[in-house]
Amino acid sequence: MDFELSEEQKAFQSLAYKFAVKEFEPVAKEYDREEKYPREIWQKACASGLVGVAIPEEYGGAGAGWMETALITEQLSRIDMGLGLAIMAATFGSENILYYGTEAQKQKYLPLLTSGQAVFAGAYTEPNAGTDVAGTTTRAVKDGDDYVINGSKMFITNGTICDYMAVLCVTNPDAPKRTERHSLIVVDANLPGITRTKITGKMGIRATDTAEITFEDVRVSQANLIGQEGKGFYQLMHFFDMTRIMVAAQGVGLAQGALDKAVKYVQERKTFGIPLAANQGLQFQLAEMATRVELARNITYKAAWKVDNGQLEPALNAMAKYYAGETAVWVADKALQMHGGYGYIDEYDVQRFYRDAKILEIYEGAKEAEKMTIARRLF
Ligand SMILES: Cc1cc2nc3c(=O)[nH]c(=O)nc-3n(C[C@H](O)[C@H](O)[C@H](O)COP(=O)(O)OP(=O)(O)OC[C@H]3O[C@@H](n4cnc5c(N)ncnc54)[C@H](O)[C@@H]3O)c2cc1C
Repeated sequence: MDFELSEEQKAFQSLAYKFAVKEFEPVAKEYDREEKYPREIWQKACASGLVGVAIPEEYGGAGAGWMETALITEQLSRIDMGLGLAIMAATFGSENILYYGTEAQKQKYLPLLTSGQAVFAGAYTEPNAGTDVAGTTTRAVKDGDDYVINGSKMFITNGTICDYMAVLCVTNPDAPKRTERHSLIVVDANLPGITRTKITGKMGIRATDTAEITFEDVRVSQANLIGQEGKGFYQLMHFFDMTRIMVAAQGVGLAQGALDKAVKYVQERKTFGIPLAANQGLQFQLAEMATRVELARNITYKAAWKVDNGQLEPALNAMAKYYAGETAVWVADKALQMHGGYGYIDEYDVQRFYRDAKILEIYEGAKEAEKMTIARRLF
């Protein structure tokens, strides 16, 4: 067992950390307050080689893996998870094409994402179906050489700013198993019949764009089918197995960032004539926080390493996402508490970390969905 990162991995880690300190720290508050998407920062991240590193070199990526993606995500999230997500999720959904798309689809879409020319989105959740993915009802009906799509999607990251999206549609409504009725279709986000409405007022990750999207007789070529018709549900479950590593890495990064802030604050703030850090009660809490962050990091790196080495374990990835998400929420809460009243004011970053953390227990499979996957392995 080797716990040492390679020189290339350390280089990605350091590049991401320095990028976030320079580009995120001065503006994170502003993007959070104004709920605006960081288009310029995303383009700089593309130019720095931080976006889509797991995409093979022939399609414009670095040909790296999920470990490198996790390391970058962790360092960005350590400084600001909202801005980090806005950047890393610019390729979200394109993995469907990477794993299941045709050669023509890979050549058409993937290079646009790493070069900062296009943003992707994964449109799966619907107003009436999130956890129950097979319960989604957006319909794609064949008509000549095309599919005609009708329905609506909810909470779609990059919804109003994306150029393309992978859309989960029912194509085989009569298949006996409800998990064999869906297909993934790549859709140009600017087609007639598509209405994209930004959802404002999110509790956290406010620099990210989230939208409701409706499809009214949207016509796309059947050549836009990703993978096999009727296998969309299974393709999507495989996709989530991978992307959960990224969410876990967000949790590790946010938790580390909140811990960093707490450690700094308790050394500066004095009560009863001594620094807060001199109280063993707080030292013990910090020790527990550091231990949980380390555990979350270890399970996340293990999950990433296994995927990169062809040993995907869905339950392990679910554990990583669930544990890292819960750790981030717990650590951010403790860190805010140590800041007292100042922690509650948006002048101090720790309250943003506290708000940002909660989404980690909800999106890409709420933590209850992760526990279902873990429990399935036990039985
Ligand atoms: C900011 C944000 C960004 C998002 N980005 C995207 C995106 O880019 N693309 C996309 O497709 N979706 C996206 N989502 C949607 C997200 O993945 C869903 O919200 C999530 O999967 C939960 O689905 P739901 O909201 O419909 O909750 P529901 O499925 O209605 O569940 C409600 C609660 O009940 C629990 N629950 C449900 N069923 C069970 C059960 N059988 N046993 C025990 N507990 C259960 C759930 O875990 C949850 O806590 C995003 C959501 C948010 C808020």
